[in-house]
Amino acid sequence: MVRYVIGNWKMNLGEKESERLARAVAAGVGRKIRGLEVGVCPSFTALSSVGRAIRRTKIKLGAQDVFSEPKGAYTGEVSLRQLTELGVEYVIVGHSERRAYAGESDAMVAAKLRTVMSSLAIPVLCLGETKAELKAGIRDKVIERHLTVALEGVRPKRSERIIVAYEPIWAIGTGLVCDPAEAEAAHAHIRKLASRLLGKGWSENNLAVIYGGSVNAKNASGFVARKGIDGVLVGGASLKAGEFVRIVGAFGGKGV
Ligand code: PEP
Repeated sequence: MVRYVIGNWKMNLGEKESERLARAVAAGVGRKIRGLEVGVCPSFTALSSVGRAIRRTKIKLGAQDVFSEPKGAYTGEVSLRQLTELGVEYVIVGHSERRAYAGESDAMVAAKLRTVMSSLAIPVLCLGETKAELKAGIRDKVIERHLTVALEGVRPKRSERIIVAYEPIWAIGTGLVCDPAEAEAAHAHIRKLASRLLGKGWSENNLAVIYGGSVNAKNASGFVARKGIDGVLVGGASLKAGEFVRIVGAFGGKGV
């Protein structure tokens, strides 16, 4: 199973800063990573420059969002083709910040997921519970609701890969990292649901479940040995090349 370490730079860097960070990450990670994919997701405005900066490296390019429609009068939106044209290989869909600040519903996320799956790009589908939902003991129900709507009608081919990012909302950007044993349990639940929802034609090996929420160089190793945790989605800590490279190292980046 391939593992993934993906950095989500959010709305933090300008074009030149993004390019510099991408070069530093590529130099730090080197060329000898095996069984691991490393990606960075800059803002749309920096995709082109970052794409050029990492072209001959092991780092892959990702986008933080996409619009579900292929083309047309959708002011301010960005289509999948516009992204893949720039070399984008991963597309984050349904990040909790998009759900909170851009009003994205499960149905909108589902449409985006289907759009990404119509291409060779790999979707990174984010889902997870709030603190209140965790306290109410309904984490698994919330995951089920997100996943059921997102995967409804999806009939993936054996060769298609999907990454689900379990990102408890209370852990994002708060420094409150999820206990790796709890993350393991949530991942097992996601895997079980996904196999049920995706049906027989689907190869379970193509589903990666990664964890996101306050991962840093210190706590990353706690997730590495856990069953069913196929990597991490990293926000804040991905903005520092050294820190991000150490996280890659924890997941077996040999060149680190
Ligand atoms: C994220 O936003 O996807 C994320 C995981 O953020 P952070 O690592 O900063 O909690």
